[in-house]
Amino acid sequence: MLTFHTILADCEAGNGEAWRAFLSDYTSLLIQMASVSVGNREEAASAWRQLLPELCAEDFKGLRALEHQSERLLLAGLRSLLLDRALAGIVRASETAPCAKLTDETVRTLIQDLPILHQELLFLKMAGYSDRTLERMYRVSPAVARKAWERLRGQWPINLEGETDQCPSPEAWLQFDRDIRHAQTEFCPDVRLFIRIQDGQVSWTEKEPAEKHVSECLHCLEAWTALQEISYWKVAAPRSSTEAVENLLSLLPVGLKSRQSKSFFRRVFG
Ligand SMILES: [Zn+2]
Repeated sequence: MLTFHTILADCEAGNGEAWRAFLSDYTSLLIQMASVSVGNREEAASAWRQLLPELCAEDFKGLRALEHQSERLLLAGLRSLLLDRALAGIVRASETAPCAKLTDETVRTLIQDLPILHQELLFLKMAGYSDRTLERMYRVSPAVARKAWERLRGQWPINLEGETDQCPSPEAWLQFDRDIRHAQTEFCPDVRLFIRIQDGQVSWTEKEPAEKHVSECLHCLEAWTALQEISYWKVAAPRSSTEAVENLLSLLPVGLKSRQSKSFFRRVFG
């Protein structure tokens, strides 16, 4: 059976067929997800094109360094690398002075004292999500958090009525997002616990302290909402075209090595 673990193992063996499956499964999902906070699809796609050879370099060191335990952990790692890569591109392309920084304090003040669901909605709204997408992602009307969004007026340039998923200030958001992603503390729960909570697999006694922590820690709020984004786009993102996948595959030093691809085919179809 062709599983996530099989594909990863074969990708690390340099198997071109496995990379074709990897690109086909994840390209569209990651580009769609990143394009919201990156502000446009072309930048996100360009960052993905740059990231892929980096994952393959030095005997696939970059890919090996990512979490392999579950697909969502792998995707969270890829998302993080992709956003960092996109930010580097935006900063390089920026001709003006560095943008005004969005600080932890500003965001902490904005989400202070809100129920966790409202914090999540407000955080993703700042990242650029439209009401329509948030409604699909959370299966509740984001209008429940409308009152909280009023706090954003004058603080962050969101379009409260917009239907497009697009961050209004990508450079400031991505810098802030990168800073909190790298600000894990010894008190932060393992992301695996967040996955189990979101899958409804933990008891109240485990869930309550973890959610309380998330509501007080920007690093964990980011990790928590990223998992929501990943689950949403896994279903909502359209499949990549064969042409797009083949174009990306041609950039990678994987080749369809005859010995490895034979063994791969035998395992999958034999
Ligand atoms: Zn934390």
